[in-house]
Amino acid sequence: MSKIHIMDEILANKIAAGEVVEKCMNVVKELVENAIDAQSTEIKIELQDSGVKEIKVTDNGVGMDQEDAILAFSRHATSKLLEEDDLYSINSLGFRGEALPSIASVSNVTLQTSNGITGTELNINGGKLIHVRSSELRKGTSILVKDLFYNTPVRLKYLKSLYTELAYITEYINKMALSYPNIKFIVTNNNKVLLNTDGSNRLLKVINDIYGLTVTKKMIEIKGENDDYQVQGYISYPELMKSNKNSITTLVNGRVIKNNDLIRSIVDSYHTYIPQDKYPIIVLKIEVDPILIDVNIHPTKMDIKFSKFDTLKELITSLITNQLEKLTLIPDAALETKTEGNNTKISTNYSPKIYEEFDINKKKEEFENFEKIVLSLESDNYEIKEPTSNYPKEPEIKPDHAEVERIKKMYPVGLVHGTYIIAENEEGMFLIDQHAANERINYEYYLEELSNPLPNKTDLLVPITLEFPSNEYIILKENFDILTDLGFDLDEFGFQTIVIRAIPIWLMKSNTEQAVRKILDIIITKENFKLDKFLDHIAATVACKASIKANDHITQNDMEVLLERLRACKNPFTCPHGRPTIITYSKYDLEKLFKRSM
Ligand code: ZN
Ligand code: ZN
Repeated sequence: MSKIHIMDEILANKIAAGEVVEKCMNVVKELVENAIDAQSTEIKIELQDSGVKEIKVTDNGVGMDQEDAILAFSRHATSKLLEEDDLYSINSLGFRGEALPSIASVSNVTLQTSNGITGTELNINGGKLIHVRSSELRKGTSILVKDLFYNTPVRLKYLKSLYTELAYITEYINKMALSYPNIKFIVTNNNKVLLNTDGSNRLLKVINDIYGLTVTKKMIEIKGENDDYQVQGYISYPELMKSNKNSITTLVNGRVIKNNDLIRSIVDSYHTYIPQDKYPIIVLKIEVDPILIDVNIHPTKMDIKFSKFDTLKELITSLITNQLEKLTLIPDAALETKTEGNNTKISTNYSPKIYEEFDINKKKEEFENFEKIVLSLESDNYEIKEPTSNYPKEPEIKPDHAEVERIKKMYPVGLVHGTYIIAENEEGMFLIDQHAANERINYEYYLEELSNPLPNKTDLLVPITLEFPSNEYIILKENFDILTDLGFDLDEFGFQTIVIRAIPIWLMKSNTEQAVRKILDIIITKENFKLDKFLDHIAATVACKASIKANDHITQNDMEVLLERLRACKNPFTCPHGRPTIITYSKYDLEKLFKRSM
């Protein structure tokens, strides 16, 4: 064959395959969605070498007769086109008429299908129909796609990244399993089971099958509705943070969607509970009248547009924050070290490593424990610990926002490295980062002060005058009213200069000029200025500045006050940057560590 001829053939096939078969995942997606459309209750996906060598999808759906089977592989197969209305309806996964022929043009495809009356087998190689014959009558469809990309140069590229291919596929199937807990999904790669759900229609069970028991134990159910939206699902404890958003799954009327505003409001609900570049694990099902959504905004229909998004955002935010504010979130230091293996596993989810470590026996064990977890999660009592105090009850500062006491009174014992307070109570030993704790207390105080509509101000004995370059001066002038609302008295004062005569009372009295500068800097440098973000930023910045530092040797009395004020916080467990304020060694941990109890 001449070189030019080969190039022509490769090029033609590549064009035919188009975007549809850019990744093995696209092929799996097409086949799985066909299986779902065929009303299957069990779908088995068997991969060899992450699908590059072989993808086999077997379902128990309605199957096809011979005519439909052949038609499915001709370009612009019309069976789906006829139901164009289905495009936008909830039950159909949409029109993908060109996908099967494209797949068949770059691989060797064998289809076996039966509707229970006739059985058909056909084979297509590189787009050419090789044979059609009758086959067994097991109802359902099985499609075997071999040597994907064998006649295109793309294949080599993917051989280098089998793990990436597998990660895409498992991410996709995980989301489908979460969308269809009533369908049993089995996924294997090189005969190793990666996922095996039971189709029992229990969402928490699917979460357990995907993420494992360690995660499942730390999921909290949320449920609520307003006039337009119904929301139900599971959110993770903040400690289960991940470094990407892949584990946030949102379903709208049963379909997986990816909407940035929606993800943002979920992540924002965890604000200060986790560091800024970390994300929780979430599965949220949203039900809404289809009139209120526009599914047509994105060609792949992963994204949708909500009308009345504000009410949805409000609902989700309040559901999540209400749950988080009930939790006790003190990391157990001893437990952390013990389960380090597991923790690595959680934080690297979707990386193929997990699947290499997959151990079917361990999964069985987890399954047996699962029922127990469901019971405890469903009975809702996991978040309230009965007080079992042996100590005489002290008069306590009761936080007024929470009915549940999340941290018991702690008694300071001493200070380590001028930085960490050691404290104790009947439950165990606590280490508190004095800066982080003080920062949290100050942050909540400033946030409250900043939102005071009638700020208390204090006149400066010596007014502060500050000069700015013209570009910065313009931005400042535009935002004078914000500064006035915050409690600043300020005026223009000659050329690109402002004078400040009074400051809000919460602002630090020492280093006033520096603190004012800092606030003005935030206004000047923040792009897309948003008031609530600005206030939050100021509160965090001023809180940090105003807090005791590491190596400040505070007194026993200071420690007592600090711990009590920390306990009264809305979220005493993390500083405004999402770092922990407090960790614990439980009484039991200590006994174990010293071999007093085995
Ligand atoms: Zn700080
Ligand atoms: Zn901090």
